[in-house]
This record gives sequence, structure tokens and C-alpha cells, in this order.
Amino acid sequence: MSDQAGFSRRRFLQASGLLAASAPALAAESVRPEASGKGEGGVPPAFARLLRKADLPAPRGARVVVVGAGWSGLSMAKYLKLQNPDFDVVLVDRQASFTSLPLSNPWLVGEISMDFLCHSFFDAARNHGYLFLQATVLGLDREARRVFTDAGVIGYDYLVLAPGIDYDYERIGVEDPVEQQLLAQRYPGGFVNASELLTIRRKIQQFRGGTFLLTVPDGDYRCSAAPYERACTMAAWFKHNGLPAKILLLDMNNEIKIMKDGFARAFSELYGDYIEYLPSSLISSVDVAGRTVSTEFDDYRFDDAVIYPPIRGARMLEEAGIMNPHSPEKTANTDPFRYHVIGDERVYVTGDSRSQPFSRGGHTANSEARYVAEVIAGHALGREVAWRSPQTMCFSAIDIRPMRAISLITFYRYDEVKKDFAFDRTHAVEQWDEVGGRASVAWAEGLFQDMFYE
Ligand SMILES: Cc1cc2nc3c(=O)[nH]c(=O)nc-3n(C[C@H](O)[C@H](O)[C@H](O)COP(=O)(O)OP(=O)(O)OC[C@H]3O[C@@H](n4cnc5c(N)ncnc54)[C@H](O)[C@@H]3O)c2cc1C
Repeated sequence: MSDQAGFSRRRFLQASGLLAASAPALAAESVRPEASGKGEGGVPPAFARLLRKADLPAPRGARVVVVGAGWSGLSMAKYLKLQNPDFDVVLVDRQASFTSLPLSNPWLVGEISMDFLCHSFFDAARNHGYLFLQATVLGLDREARRVFTDAGVIGYDYLVLAPGIDYDYERIGVEDPVEQQLLAQRYPGGFVNASELLTIRRKIQQFRGGTFLLTVPDGDYRCSAAPYERACTMAAWFKHNGLPAKILLLDMNNEIKIMKDGFARAFSELYGDYIEYLPSSLISSVDVAGRTVSTEFDDYRFDDAVIYPPIRGARMLEEAGIMNPHSPEKTANTDPFRYHVIGDERVYVTGDSRSQPFSRGGHTANSEARYVAEVIAGHALGREVAWRSPQTMCFSAIDIRPMRAISLITFYRYDEVKKDFAFDRTHAVEQWDEVGGRASVAWAEGLFQDMFYE
């Protein structure tokens, strides 16, 4: 294995986190020759598979590995190739295909087809001249510039980590990992993957009446508007179908986080009989079996629920030792203007795992990728690239049949006094109408074109 010269079994296990996780099991296996087989250095076959080189063609130029084929990774892979056609770009994702989270709220209530949301990584890779590898990334060795995956090891010249978010159930008092799993599967938040969405759609369509609980996390969560949008689209569904249902919207924030006028008016004017909005509801525990959520002051029983907890940068960052321990959302420890890990200009973190407080949106990730691709191409050539702001664009369906939506566009500026980023040039349309509804579909279509086909 030429790519693994000088590479030890111990180093792999350390870098991939397997040493801590499975040392006793591995030790036990290692002393039983029949279990360990004839693997290299006594490594059991199951692990030996991870140590081989991934099945990829030899790089033809500087290899850039992009981890995560969400909005950020797909955009990064495309714009890296556009910035420097000689880059050998490999996009890695654990999933086999892409399902859009934006526009999923209208899909939950039958306004959009699944076809519209789903796209093939193969098309994106072929149309933009990079390689796609379906694999789960297990860990990094930044010293040796290697990524460990369940499909083998990949060497890199540059690495972009765009793994998105994980839920942080501990922040709503659910600490036991087994309880977290149970909660995630019974009452999924619907902000990470397609299985969650399928479950939520079934829940909505089978709901016959009673209290349907929704939650809004605190902190800098993914897509500030989407939990309020979900309350509106679900209320619209219950209203159109004449169901005796109430949506209890427990918001961990003191008030509606974004487009407050638009959402507050929708709650009262359109859905006064359907949505009960309770701000400042800091959730302290969840009783999955008892179908009860508790705050410091009250307990709320529900018939069904979608529980969206606070979020954190993907755990991969923490396992790779590049998480900023001071950030509440456990994001990466990166340079706020150039996106590289502090002290390592070969590794970049983009998308919803980023450290900057930009709105966690697909559009933000796409526009940011155009800039970061330029930064990486510039680094390879020793050329500086001036910072420019990403753009956020967010559409929220308020009503269905026909779909009517509101929207927000914003840029960011760096406030030298506060030493932080702030909104800049913001434009909000908080009166819902059909033009907004059609614009939201056109917006998503444009970005799918950009990431997959053009
Ligand atoms: C209901 C809803 C509505 C939204 N509406 C809007 C909107 O109107 N406008 C907007 O701009 N944004 C919107 N968003 C937000 C948008 O979906 C996210 O901001 C966007 O997905 C972030 O992109 P990302 O690439 O950082 O993360 P993701 O899209 O989550 O992609 C991360 C990828 O990394 C992969 N991955 C993670 N770990 C590993 C690993 N170990 N190995 C391999 N692969 C891995 C995952 O499989 C995933 O494909 C909405 C989100 C939701 C849920």
C-alpha cells in the first residue's frame, strides 16, 4: 500500500478514534489468531479493510478532499474545480444521494414532490469534473494529511470539512446516549436527514387530532426561520383538512428569532385556532415514554411531537481535535476570515459547522463556498484573496394551496468594535403572497442547477 508508507496500526486507531472506542475488544480479538486471521500486523480483517488505500484513481494534481456532500460540500467541490481545474477533487459522503432540507416543510404537507428535493451525487460529480466516493469518514491524521474512511484511507493536499450539524440533546437534559437515540427516532427533529423527514410526514398525515408539539432550539441553530415555517405549514394542513388539532410551539428563545412580524401575524391572523406559541420555554427534560416535555415551570403532555433540540457542529470536529471548546455550538476552531483550522492552512471548515455566526443556511453555504474555493486556490499559488461576505437567502412558506411565502436576504459585515460579525444590507419581505411561494421554488431550483447540473 504505497499511500500508507510508515503508517502504523496504532496511529490509525488513534486518529480514527477507534483506539479509545474499541481497545478492549481489539485486544481480546488480537490474542485469538482464529479471530484476527492473517491480517497485516495482527489486525483483524474488519479493521484491515479500513487500513488499505481507498479505491480511487491516482491523483492528477493537488488532491482536495471535501468531506460532506451537503449544500456546502457540493458547492465547494464544484467551485474548487472552477477555481483550479488542476485540483483533483474528491467529494465524500456517507449517504448515497442528496435530499434537500430547504423546501422540505412544504413537502411534508404535499406541496412539493420528493423528486424535486432528491438529486444524484453521480450527476454532480460528472457534470463538474470531480470524483464522488460514498464512504463514512472515521477520523483524520493531519500530520500525515490522511483521511480515514470505511472505504479506506485517502491522502490529501487540502481538506475541506463540511459535515454539517449534530443534535445536542444534552442541552435539553437528555444525557444518556441510549435515551438520545430513542428520542431521535421517536420524535425526530427533521433538521439533519431524510429518514427524519419521512417519519415526520407520516406523523402529520396520520394525525387525527390532539396536541402536536413542536420545539424551537436556542442558540445559533440551523435555519432560524424553518421551525416557525414548519408550525405554519402544519397548521395550514390541519386547517385545510378540518382536524381538531393544536400545535404547541415551545420556543426556547424569548421571542420569534427572525421575521418576527411576519410569523407573529401568521400565528394570530391565519392560525389563531391552531398554534399556541410559548416563548422562553427552556426545555429541561423529555420523558419519551410518558410523552411529556418539561421546562423549569411546567410539564407539557403531547399526542405527537417533532422535537428539534439545540445543535452543535458535527462530532467529527471534536473527535479530530479541532473543535473550539468555548463555542456554545461546539463549532470548529478556525480563522474567521479564511476558514482554515488555526495553525493549519491545509484544513478548512465550511457550511453549518463553521465557527462564524452566519445564518446556518444552504444559500449561505453555497455563496461562502465560492469564496473559500478561491482562498484555497489562492493559497496553492501563494496569492491573497480579500474577504467577502457570504449571502443568506431564506424562504418560508406560510400557507399552502396555493403556497404563499415570506423571505429574507442578508449579507454580513465585521464590526471592528465588537470584534464580531453583524447583519448588513438586510431585505425582508414579511407579507406572504403567491409570488413569494413561486420565488421559493425558483430559488431552490436555481441552486440545485448550480450544485448538480450546470
Ligand atoms: C426545514 C428546513 C428548511 C430550510 N430552509 C432553508 C432555506 O430556505 N434557505 C437556506 O439557505 N437554508 C435552509 N435550510 C438550512 C440548510 O438545509 C442547511 O443550512 C444546509 O443543509 C447546510 O449545509 P451543510 O453542507 O453545512 O450541511 P448538510 O447539508 O447537513 O451536509 C452535511 C453532509 O455531511 C455528511 N456527513 C456528515 N458526517 C459525515 C461523515 N462522518 N462521513 C461522511 N459524510 C458525512 C452528511 O451525510 C451530509 O450529507 C433549511 C433547513 C431545514 C431543515
